[in-house]
Amino acid sequence: MPRLQSRSRREAAFLELAKRMYCELEAWYDDHSQASFGEIESEARRRRRDLMGELLALLINGRDVGYQLQPPTCQECGQAMEFEKYRAWLVKGLEGDTELQRAYYVCPHCEGQTLFPPRP
Ligand SMILES: [Zn+2]
Repeated sequence: MPRLQSRSRREAAFLELAKRMYCELEAWYDDHSQASFGEIESEARRRRRDLMGELLALLINGRDVGYQLQPPTCQECGQAMEFEKYRAWLVKGLEGDTELQRAYYVCPHCEGQTLFPPRP
């Protein structure tokens, strides 16, 4: 997933996802033309949950997720830490499941010291 997107890029990405969801629902309804309102609603609800999860990921991960040009300082030894990778974890929310990401830093000077996410 791309990181640090501008607001307009995040918005465009969301609109693309919403459009895809709508098109999928159209296709589903084409294949289930006898579906009741409740069945259509149920299908829409399931897809809405996926869409909301993706929306939240865009909204949160598209902003600052902890990467710093100037690496943070180790709280144990005072040396500069090194960026290792982005770590992801799944949050099961009320509206959808979202994979959040945070920058993960380690200290190469003291044993396995980590800071996750780095905070001042
Ligand atoms: Zn250290």
